[in-house]
Amino acid sequence: MKHGQFSESTTPTATGFSPGFASLGLEASLLTTLEALGYEEPTPIQREAVPPLLAGRDLLGQAATGTGKTAAFALPMLQRIGHGSRMRPSALVLVPTRELAIQVGEAVQRYGKELRVTALSVYGGQAIGPQLYALKRGVDIVVATPGRALDHIRRGTLKLQHIQIVVLDEADEMLDMGFADDLDAILQQTPDTKQTALFSATMPPRIRSIARQHLHNPVEITIAKEPVKAGTAPRVKQTAYVVARPHRAAALARVIDVAGAKSALVFCRTRLEVDDVTVMLTARGYKAEAIHGGMSQGQRDRVMQSFKTGQTELLIATDVAARGLDIPHVSHVINYDLPSSAEVYVHRIGRTGRAGREGEAITILDPREQRLLRSIEQHTKARVVVLPIPTVTDLRLKQVDRVQTAIEEVLKEGRLETFRALVERLSAACPETDVAAAAIKLLVRAQGGERPEQEIPAAPIRSHDDVGRPIRDTGRSSGRPHGSFAGAKHQPAARMRRGGREAGMARVYIGAGREAGIRPGDLVGAIANEAKVRSSVIGAIEIEERFSIVDVPESMAHSIIDVLGRAWIKGRKVPVRLFRD
Ligand code: AMP
Repeated sequence: MKHGQFSESTTPTATGFSPGFASLGLEASLLTTLEALGYEEPTPIQREAVPPLLAGRDLLGQAATGTGKTAAFALPMLQRIGHGSRMRPSALVLVPTRELAIQVGEAVQRYGKELRVTALSVYGGQAIGPQLYALKRGVDIVVATPGRALDHIRRGTLKLQHIQIVVLDEADEMLDMGFADDLDAILQQTPDTKQTALFSATMPPRIRSIARQHLHNPVEITIAKEPVKAGTAPRVKQTAYVVARPHRAAALARVIDVAGAKSALVFCRTRLEVDDVTVMLTARGYKAEAIHGGMSQGQRDRVMQSFKTGQTELLIATDVAARGLDIPHVSHVINYDLPSSAEVYVHRIGRTGRAGREGEAITILDPREQRLLRSIEQHTKARVVVLPIPTVTDLRLKQVDRVQTAIEEVLKEGRLETFRALVERLSAACPETDVAAAAIKLLVRAQGGERPEQEIPAAPIRSHDDVGRPIRDTGRSSGRPHGSFAGAKHQPAARMRRGGREAGMARVYIGAGREAGIRPGDLVGAIANEAKVRSSVIGAIEIEERFSIVDVPESMAHSIIDVLGRAWIKGRKVPVRLFRD
């Protein structure tokens, strides 16, 4: 990272708004939106990418999801087209999956609200009718998966002659999914004068060759390039839980309940999240307080005093608010959001495990942020263990455990005379064990142990050694011509089966093959989009004349077969079943 994350003045202003965003050259209406969203300061990628993009430069950025890269390209894009000719559509964002198309489309819409810039997401699998209608009415920004974008271009419903800005988001993943030809075909039809930004979590030669061909004198940005200095990463137990967005709050509550955290710092990215989390945890019976840049100095002092004296158990904070505060040692640091860089992560978890004391850092993350977690591990040279979200049974066992320990401690302490008389009175009518059981029940109830709880669904966890690349993708750039998407593409041969099935993998039979025009990208796309699994967990693919066989993790095979059996592949339904050798 070129700029030190903490070297700049980030003291919140009276309104709690960091001058950071304004200094990037963003206009007032966008600053107002960011303020309303509770963003306190730009993330490293935003700090570096916004000024050159505003100036119209092309950009090559290495950054994973979770670093704030969507805003890094969306904010300058909105500002530029918001004041342009408004010939529509003015910008095209290409993303690998339907899920990302929706997510990025919503983010762009949110950031562009004040400027009244409109965005539309178009992706495969969605009925084409409403998309046709929306495109016809006119939108400023189209966020699309490559296949569906091409479909609209061929139908004449997506016109590219006015495109001023193109963004390729998660370019490496688009190539992995076999979209190279589609990308080539799309870019060829965009005006030469356009501005292009390419983001990729990894920078293999094939991405570089694309950049050489399609970007003009780009600014290059790499986030978290330099490892954190040895010794700066504190020795604390680090765990992470991967959970889909809708279950994040429940997961946070569960891990706090299980951890029995009595003095913990919970970090959120935005002020709004800080407020939401504080309300949620307070409702669960915790003594939780918020601290963020939107509060006055007096309010912050009061909250800190209460935390230091132990009256407040959980302090919910943004990075800006926590920075510069004299926070005492805490037993747990909990990241409700994965921080946007390794530096911020190290700074956050440095609040625990101080001076030889035990500490624990817990991170809740979105399945898409697993790459960022791996990159944090690489930079901090510390392992973060990804665990399944504790079940309701785990929680109940933990609660009983804690009650047992508490009772044992009180027994050791003695001095029970005052209460013994009451036990004797009560046990005149029923056995002493019942009296004790009733007392324990009261204690468990007081600790929330009788609250009805629901299981939290597990999200797919990527294998540890798979830092963004399919494990058996061996022939990626070897000997092929560089300089075009087609040349750099994820060739079918690269994933072709060599030998038998891998351990832990199941083989899925799909009743369509070469004859039906099936390409590896179609299968990877269908599985990733329909069954919502990462393309990189998909193993070897074999395409025969009339059928195909795809290796998938055994644990996911049944759900993939179930979903694919109901999906449309290349415009038709095909039989899908488990393939036995
Ligand atoms: P992205 O890497 O674009 O997927 O962004 C990850 C998350 O960070 C999203 O939930 C954004 O809303 C949030 N985010 C992006 N920029 C900031 C910022 N400067 N401050 C706080 N949150 C942010």
